[in-house]
Amino acid sequence: MSHLEFFDSHCHVDPMRYGGDVEDVILRARAAGVSRMTVVGTRAADSEAAIRLSEREEGVFCAAGIHPNDVDDVDEEEWDRVQKLIGSGKVVAVGETGLDWFRAVASRESQTLFFERHIALSQSLGLPLIIHTRDSIRDVLDILAKAVKKGPTTGVLHAFSGTTDEAAEAIELGFFIGFAGMVTFRSAESLRQVAKTVPLDRLLIETDSPFLSPEPLRGKRNEPSHVVHTAHCLANIRGESLQVLAAATTANACRLFQVDCS
Ligand SMILES: [Zn+2]
Repeated sequence: MSHLEFFDSHCHVDPMRYGGDVEDVILRARAAGVSRMTVVGTRAADSEAAIRLSEREEGVFCAAGIHPNDVDDVDEEEWDRVQKLIGSGKVVAVGETGLDWFRAVASRESQTLFFERHIALSQSLGLPLIIHTRDSIRDVLDILAKAVKKGPTTGVLHAFSGTTDEAAEAIELGFFIGFAGMVTFRSAESLRQVAKTVPLDRLLIETDSPFLSPEPLRGKRNEPSHVVHTAHCLANIRGESLQVLAAATTANACRLFQVDCS
């Protein structure tokens, strides 16, 4: 029997969000074939928790960064801690970072400043970026285009919700496109059309757990085992077998995060 393996490229599995059942969440993921995941930090404390989890659990990787919605709550001391975590050799990516003009809880100036700080670190350390964008993709793509001119830059636009042209532009810049549970929602027909156009070697799947579970689990707390439903949906609309989609998205995540998945 063929054994499918999935890589949840973006989740927030930590004791602060899941309480005592983090270990059970990881066991359920493995039982569903989700043998690898990247746990993404949004502040210093959850970045530290992500690192500790990745040190204990096989197949769990981690990223450190400050979420754009949080940048106005971060003092220089916390940013210092996060910079040290990013440079510790223990993380596979920088983020999550980016711009959020939708919620706009932090000023545009500080979001832009922190995005540029994360990009500079990613370039100097050779680590990929995990990018959050909401109502801000034009500005994100412009900033990334400038960064690419300065030196090697890569990463993922996570929980992608842009257009086909915007996805193509990000791909042209060297980025991956991550699809979360949103793509499975009945109302998301246009996003499914976008997902059809992403080359198989740039496609990632993610849960963004604990937020927004995919169909048919919408409304439940999300967790990495649910990424299988998003994979099914993408395979269906793209006309690929689940085997092909699972193998490609796993290989892509391993390549992006520079982890050995053999
Ligand atoms: Zn996230």
